[in-house]
Amino acid sequence: MAPTTNIAAIDKRALKEKYRRERAKRLRPDGNDQYIRLAGQLAHYLDDPYTPRTERPPVTDHVTVAFIGGGFAGLVTGARLTEGGIDDVRIVDKAGDFGGTWYWNRYPGAQCDTASFVYMPLLEETGHMPSEKYAHGPEILEHCRRIGKHYDLYDRALFHTEVTDLEWDDAGSRWIVSTNRGDKFTAQFVAMGTGPLHVPKLPGIPGFESFRGHSFHTSRWDYEYTGGDPSGAPMDRLADRRVGIIGTGATAVQCVPHLARACGELYVFQRTPSSVDVRANAPTDAEWFAEIATPGWQQRWLDNFTANQGGGFAEEDLVQDGWTDIARRIRSRIMALAPEEMTPERMMDAFEDSDFEKMQEIRARVDAVVDDGDTAQRLKAWYRQLCKRPCFHDEYLHAYNEPGTRLVDTDGKGVERITSTGVIVAGSEYELDCIIYASGFEVGTDYTRRAGYDAAGRNGRRLSEHWADGMRTLHGIHVHGFPNVFIVQPTQGANLISNVPHNLTESGRTIATIVHHAVDGGYDQVEVTNEAEDEWVELLLSGPGTLIGSPDCTPGYYNNEGQDRGPAARLFVGYPQGAAAFFQYLDDWRTSGDFAGLMFRRSTR
Ligand code: NDP
Repeated sequence: MAPTTNIAAIDKRALKEKYRRERAKRLRPDGNDQYIRLAGQLAHYLDDPYTPRTERPPVTDHVTVAFIGGGFAGLVTGARLTEGGIDDVRIVDKAGDFGGTWYWNRYPGAQCDTASFVYMPLLEETGHMPSEKYAHGPEILEHCRRIGKHYDLYDRALFHTEVTDLEWDDAGSRWIVSTNRGDKFTAQFVAMGTGPLHVPKLPGIPGFESFRGHSFHTSRWDYEYTGGDPSGAPMDRLADRRVGIIGTGATAVQCVPHLARACGELYVFQRTPSSVDVRANAPTDAEWFAEIATPGWQQRWLDNFTANQGGGFAEEDLVQDGWTDIARRIRSRIMALAPEEMTPERMMDAFEDSDFEKMQEIRARVDAVVDDGDTAQRLKAWYRQLCKRPCFHDEYLHAYNEPGTRLVDTDGKGVERITSTGVIVAGSEYELDCIIYASGFEVGTDYTRRAGYDAAGRNGRRLSEHWADGMRTLHGIHVHGFPNVFIVQPTQGANLISNVPHNLTESGRTIATIVHHAVDGGYDQVEVTNEAEDEWVELLLSGPGTLIGSPDCTPGYYNNEGQDRGPAARLFVGYPQGAAAFFQYLDDWRTSGDFAGLMFRRSTR
């Protein structure tokens, strides 16, 4: 899409000042501590509404690979391991099935935000054609189950099971895995893909516990209460209900249109508006798909999307969506600079110009869609686009034209108080039958707190100790002192936020290659050297840092709620040359067979 805003017509100084004022309204001293941890008496908010828990005896056997997390990370790694002949991969997950975020997030309207053709992994291997450009949650969850079945990962999986401890047994060259179901089994290798967004959080609003109506978090949707189902059946039990939803992030953007259609009265409590761009979803044309789905198609699409996004070069843009639009606009502004203007400062200015243009368009879209002028004004996002998760939706803004839907803007302050009967904002009470918390997930807290265990590696040293000054890895996967452990996540690797599964598929492939090499070569242990880990961290720090969630952004989980995270923040970065270059580098590293930086050992047992 070509820009429709003229940058010369934008008063950049005034706009920056507006961004600064809006940010200042939202900064709060308590940062992440403003949120409540769902433990103790609040633990029931985490109960699984979808699958009954079944009793089973504790497991005490040995497997070659244990994988913690049954989302895309575990599935793609499990798939690559079984393809290579490792037939005893055990995936452990606190959920009742595979799916990870797609298991839990069954709120109405849940849908992927990145095109299905690159977002849904292993499409070619499993022969699945996504039914829409942006598939809905039930289809993605079903695809997770399809991968589980296709690669025979169900038999050894442990569901409704949380790992509570991981302990390295050096003499036995294996990990001892303990769980909350009394299991104590061993695994030669352990991989962790616990995901960044799996611990729901609630806002610590005064009076929160006094509410006498019904309430739940969006990741534990209560269809018993609302009626309807995840595939979009109308929520027929809300017709005479007054419902409040707290939060207007990516989750609320997707479920508000469904609530607006169903509720007698819907109140959307907003602290910071999301930027909501065009979605333009469409069903997949089977004939078109048959034409593109020639051997190797998904890898070509992945490479093309990533090249368009992160540090690569592509003549064409196969995916053509909001993400590639953002990247193309930034690039074309930079490429328009004269050769003598290609300085880092001018390039950052060009990037900023493209951001101003895009955000003006997004704000103009609100005026074009929302009938009520005051509501439209309040729905406008006043920050740079990558300060918060960009959203895309074609019904969210329209929902505010529904007669029963009301935006309650808190002007950056958040909900003031919750009473036994409702919610107070700016001194006015909104009486409610139900409060839905679309308040997101823990992100800025320690990795080990979110994981629920703190692995004890060589000599009993805990991962939290090794990472006391920030994350340290090789490729985002290997940690010195933690032999036979692999981490599956984007940071310190490609850091490709616009398509997280691509990071995971590449890590899965890498881990499988290493495990196969170790098993085939009779090696008991593999570990990154101290020097290789140090060199990698140094390389990461030589890069430009990240464009996402800079400290001067409006607060949110992208920038640790606007609080200084200290030197550790510098380590939340990716490969300096960008995602496409990282994937190429990793492919070369894998295929060379040298495994530079890793030590393989045979024990003397
Ligand atoms: P977010 O953390 O993005 O949003 C939480 C919301 O709660 C924010 O709007 C926040 O406001 C608001 N909030 C917090 N405290 C208060 C308060 N006291 N009063 C009023 N409002 C409050 O959570 P989401 O679940 O929406 O999204 C989390 C992430 O999950 C996304 O960023 C995205 O990465 C992922 N996601 C992806 C989807 C996809 O790919 N399809 C769909 C949905 C989510 P404020 O902004 O001011 O902090």
